[in-house]
Amino acid sequence: MLSRPECSDKQTCELQTVVIDVPSRTAGELRTEQLKGLELKKIIDCFEDINKSVDFANWTERGYVLNQGVLYRYSPHSEVEEAQLVVPSHEREKILKLHHDAPTASHYGADGTFSRISSRYYWTGMRKYIADYVKNCVECIR
Ligand SMILES: [Zn+2]
Repeated sequence: MLSRPECSDKQTCELQTVVIDVPSRTAGELRTEQLKGLELKKIIDCFEDINKSVDFANWTERGYVLNQGVLYRYSPHSEVEEAQLVVPSHEREKILKLHHDAPTASHYGADGTFSRISSRYYWTGMRKYIADYVKNCVECIR
């Protein structure tokens, strides 16, 4: 069983503003961000529930794994062995900025942006989210 990190209590645990993609983010920090997203919290709670429900089987079937209290996903369609970090909704835009707007990302098209992001990150509906983001990118429209 995975043990809960010390600061699972939102009241006592001061949330830090950390830039995603910085390797120094600890499991505890990643977990804190994930728990802010209701849909992810639901999955994490389910993994940590001793009475494994039917939902638990559903999540594992869809490739979700919990590692050090942090939610990852193995893509069933990908050859890649690396697990994708599951991104809570409030951090998705930040990921897009980093992998689309950043000078190193040079405004790839929707497919290019998707493949870059999906090699490391996952969230439900990410393909559409990315397509919409790229479609509405002011720089790309120009
Ligand atoms: Zn763009």
